[in-house]
Order: sequence, then C-alpha cells, then structure tokens
Amino acid sequence: MLSRRGFIKGAAVAAVGTMVGVPARPAVAGPSAKVSRQVPGYFRLPVGDIEVTALYDGGVTIPAKILHGATPQEIDVLLRDACIDPEQGLPTAINAFLVNTGNHLLLVDTGAGTAFGDKGGLLPGNIRAAGYDPREIGVVLLTHLHSDHALGLTDGAGRAVFPQARVRAAAAEAAYWLGPDAEQRIPEAQRKMLPAIKAALAPYQEAGRFSTFAPGETPAQGVEAVALAGHTPGHTGYRLASKGQGILFWGDIVHGMAVQFPRPEVSIDFDIDQPAAVATRTALMKSLAKGNEWVAGAHLPFPGLGHLRQAGAGYAWCPALYAG
Ligand SMILES: [Zn+2]
Repeated sequence: MLSRRGFIKGAAVAAVGTMVGVPARPAVAGPSAKVSRQVPGYFRLPVGDIEVTALYDGGVTIPAKILHGATPQEIDVLLRDACIDPEQGLPTAINAFLVNTGNHLLLVDTGAGTAFGDKGGLLPGNIRAAGYDPREIGVVLLTHLHSDHALGLTDGAGRAVFPQARVRAAAAEAAYWLGPDAEQRIPEAQRKMLPAIKAALAPYQEAGRFSTFAPGETPAQGVEAVALAGHTPGHTGYRLASKGQGILFWGDIVHGMAVQFPRPEVSIDFDIDQPAAVATRTALMKSLAKGNEWVAGAHLPFPGLGHLRQAGAGYAWCPALYAG
C-alpha cells in the first residue's frame, strides 16, 4: 500500500503524461519544441509461451522515515549508495501486470484508479497502448485490497473498468477488509480506506463477478496462489509457469528496493503485521535467490520484472533488459 499522505511534494518520480500512444509534437512546433510526455508505460516479457506485459499505473515518493528495522543512518547509507537523496524520499512505481496465457487474459492488480490523483490511474490507457482493451480481461487477480491495487477496478464514476472480468482475492484478505466487524477491528490508519475499497468492489459484487479462494484453491486456470501474509492478512502472490520458465507476481513484498533487498528485515509502515511481513519477505527472497524464477513486483522500478540473486547477507535485483 502507498499512502497519498506519504507523498513528498516536488519529489515525485518522473511525471508520466495521461495520454498514451505515439507522442506527437504540436503542428506549429519549432525544431526544439519539447514533447514532454513520457513514453507509454508498458513492457513485454515472454515467459515460456506466456506473454507478460508490465503496465505502469503511476508513481509516488515515500519518505525514508516510514522504514523500520535498521537505523536511520544505515538507511541513509543504503539510499545514497543507490543514488537516492534520503531527504527526497524513495521514488516508487505502481505496477500492474497483464498476462496472456494464450487462452485467456489475466490482470494482476489494478493500480490506484482516481485515488492518487495524477500520481496514478494510468493503467487503462497503458493497457490500450499495449494493444489490449480493459474490456477483454477475463480475470483480475488482486494481491491484496490496498488502494493502489484495488481502486483501479472502477473509474471516476464508479463504473467497472473491467466489465467482463471475474475479480478474485484470497478469502483471508476479503474477510479482513469486508468482514462484518471491519470498522471496529481495522487500525485507524487503514480503516479510512474501507469505503473506497467497498465502492471499488461493489459493481463486481452486484454482477456476481467477485469471489474469493481458500488456501490450496486455484484462483484461475493455470495459476497457483502463494500465501504471502504479513503486508496484509491475505496478501497473495500468483505464480505461473510455462515450458520450464516461471514467474511470481509478488505484490508488495518490497516497497523500498534500495533498502529492502540488502536488508530484507526492514519493514514499512504499510505492513499491517510487520514481523510477519519480514518473515515472509526473508523466506521468499531466500527461496527465489536459489532458482531462476522471474519476479514481478508492484513497487519495483518499472517494469518491475527481474530476478533475485544473493548478495552478501542480502539480495540484489537483476532487472529484465529491454529486448525488441
Ligand atoms: Zn502497494
């Protein structure tokens, strides 16, 4: 989860225009007139016979002080090593992922919708720029129900952005946010998200298109759900494999890559159960570094695709390289 409150003014990641497609310069522009808009935010990765398209929804900056588990001095050093000014905070992308299995289209997470103003909400435009249509998507898999993952389900008028999709989330996640006593049980910092989460799910629930899955159940054909509780109680990764290659969509395992790869024991205010989030992250990174599975991260630098490797007592990120 990312909070608008956590934004640091003037330190946002590179601004991305709301228009997508081939940037056009004004007809009357002189030879040095600037286009300014960023390129469309999509990136293609084949995984066996599966086509994964990373999609940029937006980007925010999170303050270093909400990281815990290392001293402020240690965090400062790690940030400066990554060429990040600690005073400016950590630039953090919001990514979602479209998966074309050849049989159906899945979307993992939906971005922030209109909740983050001009810091989010680029997902539908980037889906179209990538050659797809939000109306074609058959299944939306939510890693969890935080704003920056679930609120893109609806547009500014509260309509379903993915009207043909079945929307799925882990039963534990739905129970936490949608259970009858949620208003009393959920800590205040997270409770304020409840009305927006309920509104984002409403059109899908009304159409009978929202359902949950229990541990061990298959959330969609060919997809394995991986329980990664801690960040939220039902935080879930999704794993697909094809022709000896695999990919894990790990949701919010990492928010501040420059700190949490070298120091996975560092948690963040957004983690509802910080000790559990640390245990989950530590165990998952250890296991991923032993293999060659692709990782897709919601808050890793766009496109958020790469591999993990062991680096000393921590880990390093090997990003997917552009290939045409
Ligand atoms: Zn998030």
